[in-house]
Amino acid sequence: MALLLAVVMYVWLVLPSLHAASAPTADNYAHEKDPNFWYDLAEKELQATLRAKQQGVAKNVIMFLGDGMGVSTVTGGRIWAGQRLGLYGEEHLLSWDKFPFVGLSKTYNVDRQTTDSAASGTAFLCGIKTRQGMLGLNAHAMRGNCSKADGNEVECILNWALTAGKSVGLVSTARITHATPAAAYAKTPERNWETDRDIPESEKKCKDVAYQLIMQNPRIQVLLGGGRSFFLPEGVADPDPDPSFAIDDASRTDGLNLVEEWKKEKRNNGFTHSYVYNRDGFDRVNPDETDYLLGLFNQEHMQYEAERNKTKEPPIADMAAKAIRILRRNPNGYFLLVEGGRIDHANHKNHATKAFAEVEAMDRAVQVAKELTSDRDTLIVVTADHSHVLGIAGYASRGNPITGLSVVDGEIEIERTDDNKPYTTIVYGNGPGWTADPRRNLTKVDTTVVAYTMDAAVPMSSETHGGEDVAIYATGPQSFLFTGTHEQNYIPFVMAYASCIGPYAKEKLACAKYEIKEKTRVAFNDPDAASLARRIGSACSSNIVLPSVEILVVPIAVTLVLPSVEVFMAPAAEVWTINLKTLAACGQSKRSEICRSPFVVSLNLPQKLSPSLR
Ligand SMILES: [Zn+2]
Repeated sequence: MALLLAVVMYVWLVLPSLHAASAPTADNYAHEKDPNFWYDLAEKELQATLRAKQQGVAKNVIMFLGDGMGVSTVTGGRIWAGQRLGLYGEEHLLSWDKFPFVGLSKTYNVDRQTTDSAASGTAFLCGIKTRQGMLGLNAHAMRGNCSKADGNEVECILNWALTAGKSVGLVSTARITHATPAAAYAKTPERNWETDRDIPESEKKCKDVAYQLIMQNPRIQVLLGGGRSFFLPEGVADPDPDPSFAIDDASRTDGLNLVEEWKKEKRNNGFTHSYVYNRDGFDRVNPDETDYLLGLFNQEHMQYEAERNKTKEPPIADMAAKAIRILRRNPNGYFLLVEGGRIDHANHKNHATKAFAEVEAMDRAVQVAKELTSDRDTLIVVTADHSHVLGIAGYASRGNPITGLSVVDGEIEIERTDDNKPYTTIVYGNGPGWTADPRRNLTKVDTTVVAYTMDAAVPMSSETHGGEDVAIYATGPQSFLFTGTHEQNYIPFVMAYASCIGPYAKEKLACAKYEIKEKTRVAFNDPDAASLARRIGSACSSNIVLPSVEILVVPIAVTLVLPSVEVFMAPAAEVWTINLKTLAACGQSKRSEICRSPFVVSLNLPQKLSPSLR
């Protein structure tokens, strides 16, 4: 029965329909009444976590940043994406929901309870908390004050990676000069100085963000996003102008054509390079023959996924994939930041459906990144810079459209409201969705359309960020370090530790140096023990994940006869000597009676593992 249900579930989950599949019925979900369904699911999750590859060195690090993707936005996006697959939705899993390790990130900054994306980006890319609105500067600097910036610059993970000989890339659906990507490379007391036009006369000594990107950070191999207007000077026509966009308010006043400057630098240094501004050009870029790629797909931010002109702009998944294919040619590995930048903008408008569509698009990008990389050598981190004041309200029936009115057992829920009017499941704490007293009546309103503005409690032209913790999802080498509640500036330290760069570069502090080889094996130095291990191994061979080292094992025995084991890192010469004190947990508890008895192994790893045989 359980098997049959699993097959039925599988068929649903792989149904490729992105458009409204036929509505699920309660019969489709009858298996949820069976306790064994939940027992099996929990067991599967437990085994997956036990098997998670958490050790080793991260040759590559990919950070996905959902701008404004608080936990409630993840939940809403998950349900929305699931419902598009014809499911109830709540049980659906986004790609990062399947990651083995999750922690929480405290996002406040030095002077605000609730952060903006600039201070936040400086925390999760440079390792320090700073003031609202500043990029790559410590809190001795003051926002908007150019003279106080000098000497307060901090180094960020992009440079740590470059110093280690890795390749780096930035992808965003927002302007590539917007706060999140800019935090990776810019040092400025004001995030809004994206073009020289926006820097006041008194502060002109500071360079704008677009200038810094092109003129001061020439070794970023992949740059994909929006914000083209900040790279072109007044008088130079845009290659694909949007008539509704006021280019005269955005273009550069210093006469610099930063696109041409970018090309010139690459040409002078003999690099193969491509500049593209639309999907056609992007699709034609061969990543195997491209050292440098600059793609600026919109004068402003790139379009919302729900409204994207597919002939003009590539989806975030395609941008992430191409970036990985270019960067992975470096044998030393790479650091890549991919920002789903418009989740934030949609939430600011109280446009929850658009925000969820952005989450779904980023989900596809993370999925593609997983497929193009291996957990063995690539750490993938998915997190947010801050939350939004989006709430998931009421007690709607299972499978009720997440952006619809709250409906319980087929009835629009009005008993619960004091004004006897319906309400949506998604509500915001503030924003443009506020409507005057009396509250608008939504009885015949389709609240699921893309640009619907959800209700908000406090009137504001733009909804605000939310100050609660956001989640950090991680998979790959050292990903277990993201478990727990952490300050946001902890994140780049873990990425650096996992990949031995920056403060954890090899010649400095210890880092994640114990690379796990494919054929790691355990050998016993007591012949009796070895034969016992073989016997038990054939009975229930499995992966056992131990706290400090993952061993592809013949499981270890039931008694205390094993005084010590040696763990060989095959085929490398390094040998670790490990004292086996007691017994170990066995992975596949259902495989045999022998494995069913709980074993516990305590492995005493010496501080520095011995390189010699004992
Ligand atoms: Zn925002």
